[in-house]
Amino acid sequence: MLKFTKITASIGPKSSNHAILTKMVRAGVNLVRINFSHDTGDVQGAKIDTIRTVSRELKTPVGIIVDLQGPKHRIGDFASDEKYKLTVGQRFVFDSNETPGDNTRVCLPHPDVIASLHAGDRILLNDGKLEMRVDKCEPTKIIATVIRGNEIWSRRGFNLPDTFIDTEILTPKDKADLEYAITKNPDFVAVSFVQSADDIAYVRDFITARTAHKINIIAKIERPHAVHDIDNIVAAADGIMIARGDLAVEMPFEQVPAISRHIIRVCRQMNKPVIMATQMLTSLVDSEFPTRAEISDVANAAYLRTDSCMTSEETTVGINPVHTIQTMSRILSYADMDTIANPNDWLRIDNIPENNWSRSVASMAHLNNASAIIVFDRDGIATTEISCRRPDMPIVAVCNDETVANHLCLSRGVFPICDPEIFGTRDEVAAAKSVGIKIGAVVVVDDGTISLRGI
Ligand code: PGA
Ligand code: MN
Repeated sequence: MLKFTKITASIGPKSSNHAILTKMVRAGVNLVRINFSHDTGDVQGAKIDTIRTVSRELKTPVGIIVDLQGPKHRIGDFASDEKYKLTVGQRFVFDSNETPGDNTRVCLPHPDVIASLHAGDRILLNDGKLEMRVDKCEPTKIIATVIRGNEIWSRRGFNLPDTFIDTEILTPKDKADLEYAITKNPDFVAVSFVQSADDIAYVRDFITARTAHKINIIAKIERPHAVHDIDNIVAAADGIMIARGDLAVEMPFEQVPAISRHIIRVCRQMNKPVIMATQMLTSLVDSEFPTRAEISDVANAAYLRTDSCMTSEETTVGINPVHTIQTMSRILSYADMDTIANPNDWLRIDNIPENNWSRSVASMAHLNNASAIIVFDRDGIATTEISCRRPDMPIVAVCNDETVANHLCLSRGVFPICDPEIFGTRDEVAAAKSVGIKIGAVVVVDDGTISLRGI
């Protein structure tokens, strides 16, 4: 069974060694995410080196995503290590005073956040379990009322769903991390807490000023402002991550499935790959069996024809990262093959003129019962566009550049191979065989020309 939906595996303490990574790639990992919120510098650099080694040994392209922490804000410290209980209706103050907090106040060590808040804005702590509303803003002080009570303790992260935070998308830490990451030539950089298309332009300028290597930018959609500006962000970025973790805190959670469907649709129309992320198989952190709801969530992501599903803690700190990938692969490949057995919707939803060329390719393959679409692709653009039409058959992308093949690891239904020889000889039989495709009629795309071959 082929798996069309790509797996992005976050890697961490439980999954960073050569043996485990080899097993994970064999089990279906197409991309790995390295999260710079945790380790930085050479610890992360070593992971990048190991993945490159594994990928070359297995002759399997693996895309590497460096994920930057972004402007994730935290409150300061409290006087004791205890948790402080706050009650509904009480007043609570955030200020720039660095004295340890108590149950009436705490330091908020981000002047740009204090300056961005307005009366009426919500402040959510502990993933929304503690909720406050701002009553009054002073230059160095925010006075709020507790709306939903809960415990608070040192260095909790907070979310501000109503506030456009007037801050730079790259914190000093992100800049240092990105400077370092750039020296390791990653395939993608994921940008956290994007608020507008300008944020993407800023990161792109930062990268292109430092390297000629093509690093694709993935915008993480986890703020309401990003959801509202989604068309411009998709246009500016090279790919999107539906970051459901923070998104479900910052948006009413019942809206997250609808937003996810919408984002996938916009990405397909604009020919950009999209990753569905967070809590897809969370119970596998400490169990062997996914819940029924998780099985359905993963399968439904495939039915929505996302490009990729992502694992988080399941593969960074979970008890069995390899088993997690095997589980996800099983669910995805069954659902992927089922979408092929059942009617396709690509003609209906991609009816926009800009995509007529790639629609013709998918249409020709469909009408001729082609067993594959083979693309000889120098830069990955044609393959990505064809993938976004979600054809019923695998797309074999023959590349002569490792980075292009790694970028295509994120595109649904694409089986990239980096083989300068096959690329040079235009040998479609060898190309199809290299990914184990049953040979029949194939549609061949080469530098914009399309032809049907019986092989
Ligand atoms: P994170 O991003 O794991 O870096 O927070 C994903 C999410 O918020 O869903
Ligand atoms: Mn997040």
